[in-house]
Amino acid sequence: MSSSNYLYDSVFGHTVDSKKSFLINQNGEMSYASFHELVNQLANTLKVSGLKIGDRVAVQAEKSNVQIALYVATIKSGGVYLPLNTDYTANELEYFLKDSEASIVVIDSKNEDSIKKTIRNKSVKILTLNENETGSLTSLSNKQEKVFDTVPRNPEDLAAILYTSGTTGRSKGAQLSHNNLLSNTKVLKDFWKFNENDVLLHMLPIYHTHGLFVACNLLAYVGGSMIFLPKFDSQQALTWMKRANTMMGVPTFYTRLLKEDLFDKKLTEHMRLFISGSAPLLAETHIEFEKRTDKKIIERYGMTETNMNTSNPYDGPRIAGTVGLPLPGVELRIADNKGQEVDKGEIGIIELRGDNVFGGYWEMPEKTAESFREDGFFITGDMARIDENGYVIIVGRDKDLIITGGLNVYPKEVEDLIDEINNVNESAVIAVPHPDFGEAVVSIIVRKQDSVNEKDIKDHLSDKIAKFKQPKKIIFADNLPRNTMGKVQKSELRKKYQDLFNS
Ligand code: AMP
Repeated sequence: MSSSNYLYDSVFGHTVDSKKSFLINQNGEMSYASFHELVNQLANTLKVSGLKIGDRVAVQAEKSNVQIALYVATIKSGGVYLPLNTDYTANELEYFLKDSEASIVVIDSKNEDSIKKTIRNKSVKILTLNENETGSLTSLSNKQEKVFDTVPRNPEDLAAILYTSGTTGRSKGAQLSHNNLLSNTKVLKDFWKFNENDVLLHMLPIYHTHGLFVACNLLAYVGGSMIFLPKFDSQQALTWMKRANTMMGVPTFYTRLLKEDLFDKKLTEHMRLFISGSAPLLAETHIEFEKRTDKKIIERYGMTETNMNTSNPYDGPRIAGTVGLPLPGVELRIADNKGQEVDKGEIGIIELRGDNVFGGYWEMPEKTAESFREDGFFITGDMARIDENGYVIIVGRDKDLIITGGLNVYPKEVEDLIDEINNVNESAVIAVPHPDFGEAVVSIIVRKQDSVNEKDIKDHLSDKIAKFKQPKKIIFADNLPRNTMGKVQKSELRKKYQDLFNS
C-alpha cells in the first residue's frame, strides 16, 4: 500500500506560495497557508469526532470557506465526502443520511432539531455549520492543532459520494474514487490551460460536481485563486469580475449577465475564459454573448457519475449548440439501446468509458449493473449525435424522448426551431398522454413579448418538420421550472399537463 493520499497530495498537498490568496470574498482573502491550517484543524475535529477510514461525512450547509476546507479535511482524513443540496427538506435528508449511513453529519443549526429526531442511531455525530461560519463544528475546530498527519489513500479508494439530481425515482449515490477526481482535474488543466495565475469567479453551489470538483479541485491543483461568492448575483458578478480572469457557470448565469447593460466588451476584456455546463446553453445565448463581449463561451458536458466528458476546444472552433469533443482519455460512443454503435451522424445514447467514470451506485448493485455494458461503458441516458467534425450535439435525455403514434420525436429538434422565432425566449417540448396517439407533443413557450402568437409558431414549424413532430398544443408560460443547476424540470411540466388531453 502506498503511503500517500492519492487525491489530497496532488490537488491540495503540493507547495504553493503560502502567502498567496486561495479564497477571496466579501470577508477578505484567505491565503493558502491559512486555508491549510483550517483544513488541519477540521481534520483533527473529524478525528476527535470518531471518523474512521471510509466513513461518510454528510454536509448540508450554505457555501462558505469552512465548508470547502471541510471537504479537503475529509479527503485528508481518509473519509468520504457527501455534500447535500441545501434545498433538500428534512424528509429528503432522512433518506440520504440513512442510505449513506453517514457517521458524521454537518448541518445548519436551524435544522439540528429535526435531524436529531430523524437520526436515531446515537453513534452518529451531529455538528453544526451556519452561513456565517459559526456553529459547533467551528467552535470545536478552533480548539484543534493546526497540524495533521495525512491519512494514506489509494487511487481506487472512495473519495466522495454525490447523490444524483435525478428527478424520477430514488436518488442514487454516485461513488467517486480518488482516481476519478484526480484524472479529470489533470485533463481539464491541460485542456482549458489553467495555471497559477488564474483567478476564477466562483458563484456555483459546492454540493454539486460542477462547483466542487470541476472548479475547486482544478484551481487548487494549479495553485490559482477563487473569488468564492455565496451564490450567483448579477450585480456581484459585475463587481467581482474585474478581479477575475476566468468564470465557470450554468447557462442561467450567462443569460442573466446578458440582461445587464454594464456587461460588455470593456468589462470582460481581461477575461481569459468563460465556461458553461450542467445544462444546455442555447445557441442564441452563445451567439449573443459573442456579439456583446467578443468572446466565445466554452460549452462542456459532464455528469455527477462521470465528471467532465466533452468540451469545446480552447484553441479550435467553439461551436454553438454543441458540447464539443471527447476529452483526452474519455472514450465516447453513440449507441442504440443494446449498446451497438449507431451509424455515423445518427442519434443514439451517449455511452462512456475512462478513468473519469464512477465505479457504481452506493449499495445499489442492480442499478449499477443496469447502467454499465459488459465492456465497461456507462450508459448516460443522454441522446446525442456526432457531427461531421466530431463534435457532440446533445438532443435530449432518453426519458424525454416522445413516441407519438409510434414515431419518435426528439424534443430538442422542435425546441431549437421554436427558439429561433423572433421574440421567443425559450421553450420546452414534452410528451403528454394522449388517448389516440399514446403521447402527444406539447410545447411550453416563454415569450419576450406577447407579439408572438400560436399561429406564428405553427406557421414557422409547418414546413420545417414533419406533422407528427409539430406540437398538438402550444402553451405560453412566464418561465420554465428549473432546479438550482439550471436544468429545466421536465418531469414537473409533464405532471402539470398530464391531463391536457383527457379532460
Ligand atoms: P448532473 O449529474 O446534475 O451534473 O447532470 C448531468 C446531466 O446534465 C447530463 O446527463 C446532461 O443531461 C446534462 N448536461 C450537462 N452538461 C450539459 C450540456 N452542456 N448540455 C446539455 N446537457 C448537459
